Amino acid sequence: MEHAAASPLEAMTRAAEDPAGYVEQWKARTGGRAIAVFPMNFPAEIAHAAGLLPVIVQEDRNPITLGNNLLSEFNCGYSRNLADQAATGRLDVFDGFFMADHCIQLIGAADVIRELTGGRRFYLGQLISSMNDPWTPEQARLTMTDFVAELSSFAGVEITDERLRESIKTYNRGRKLLRTLYEQRRSGDSRFTSGELQTMVKSSMVMQREEHNALMEDLVAQSSATPRDDRVRVHLSGHFCHAPKPELLALIEESGGIVVDDDLFHGARYISTDADESASPVDALVGQYLERNVNVPCPTRAQSDVDWDAYLLNAVHSSGAEVVISLLVKYCEPHMLYLPELRKALEAEGIPHLLLETEHEGIPLETMRTRIEAMFEQATRGRAPTRVPTA
Ligand code: SF4
Repeated sequence: MEHAAASPLEAMTRAAEDPAGYVEQWKARTGGRAIAVFPMNFPAEIAHAAGLLPVIVQEDRNPITLGNNLLSEFNCGYSRNLADQAATGRLDVFDGFFMADHCIQLIGAADVIRELTGGRRFYLGQLISSMNDPWTPEQARLTMTDFVAELSSFAGVEITDERLRESIKTYNRGRKLLRTLYEQRRSGDSRFTSGELQTMVKSSMVMQREEHNALMEDLVAQSSATPRDDRVRVHLSGHFCHAPKPELLALIEESGGIVVDDDLFHGARYISTDADESASPVDALVGQYLERNVNVPCPTRAQSDVDWDAYLLNAVHSSGAEVVISLLVKYCEPHMLYLPELRKALEAEGIPHLLLETEHEGIPLETMRTRIEAMFEQATRGRAPTRVPTA
């Protein structure tokens, strides 16, 4: 029996911390089917239009056991955790699995999941990763059309343009609500901690979007600004596919920092871009896919006319961040490839940069505390009065 939550944040926290529990309750309540989708590009709007519950599979807190035998130890913790979830039945709550081409490690995890969850539909669509070739829009359109056909067949429902348009509106509304709080944070409001904002985004990846939107409406309506204090203003960068551990976010704040912006997948990256509600729905999803990589460039995509480093500098200037902390998932190749460029760009502008490597298990929090505190001390030495955001 489901109990009414005392507050929107409590309900979101429950879903974020126990996605399988949420999915079980949702299925019991609605009689519907839930599908697992994998980061970072699968268009959940299409599954929603088919009446399914699309859930982005989260890294869970369980130690990796069987997963370590299924993928090599130099796969990232997220991909090994996914393999472990499949091997130990923690993905049994899902009726199917859908993925858009992403990185080689996630595709390795997908192979394991496909093997261990046989009998249930597993679909991998090759969404073009070369983002600005002459043939890119058409290739992306063909893949989006395939997603529509595949999910229609899976759900036994015709995904009409009308249904898809409604789902696009619902998801746009959700992103807009989340962006409202992110924009307020950039402009100096510190009402929500970075952990709370992460909970909002993470739960939006799990909950039925209409339900999440209603909770967000409440949060935004109740929101009253809390002026930012003089803690060191931090931009958090990196960490794809799964959320940084809440204790790490808390550590940054305990050490005298306040996160003013980020480009995390469980953050600004995920909510950055809407689909055009006036375009044909498939074209709108193609446009959203292409524009997202311009708005917040992703190292798993190849695009000659956008740079993550240029984006990062611009974000730092806009929010007034004083330091950048890169959260690198251990063995995340796409992120590692871009780090030298990011570092060079930040050094050229004299912006302090700290690289913290994270793992599924055993994050050395006390070592990180020392490094973060040292960086903050350096950043505040001879500090000028508060830098006012420019946008
Ligand atoms: S992009 Fe990085 S974090 Fe995501 S699955 Fe690939 S290696 Fe892991």
